[in-house]
Amino acid sequence: MERIAIFPGSFDPFTIGHKNIVDRALPLFDRIIIAIGVNSAKQPWMPLPERIDAIHFVFADEPQVEVDSFSGLAVDYARERNARFLLRGVRTCADFDYERNMADANRMLPAGKDIETILLPALPEYAAVSSSLVRELARFGAPYAHLLPYTNHHPYTNLIT
Ligand code: ADP
Repeated sequence: MERIAIFPGSFDPFTIGHKNIVDRALPLFDRIIIAIGVNSAKQPWMPLPERIDAIHFVFADEPQVEVDSFSGLAVDYARERNARFLLRGVRTCADFDYERNMADANRMLPAGKDIETILLPALPEYAAVSSSLVRELARFGAPYAHLLPYTNHHPYTNLIT
């Protein structure tokens, strides 16, 4: 049976920290589906089609990686995609508490009982990188391109500066 992992998140935007989690998880799974959770009540910083394009661009040479979007519960989406694993990254103790609670909550759902959450610790050099940091830097006109894995290569970058 194919080992498929869903990497769910907002990825608003997808950062070098997210990329590092995917790169390190590649040897663990046959396929990783980066799944952008869509929350229609919230206006994103980077529009969904551009987030999808940017992530496609980053993993253009990586056939194991797929990009998709979903709304609703990650475990329902995982079931739909025949994925048995949810991949998440952990930077801090606060992240760990949150992720453990989410993993427990997911396991209690009917769709989540056979789905295992796999947590990878952030590498120290990426532990301070977050999408919200990028958005804050952008808001104040500070440089943030070094935190994005596609800057200077991707045409959509122009739209977010
Ligand atoms: P969410 O809104 O679901 O938290 P994010 O897009 O912020 O989605 O993050 C998706 C996942 O990536 C989360 O598990 C988060 O902890 C992890 N993550 C975010 N930034 C980093 C980083 N710099 N290093 C490792 N993991 C990270």
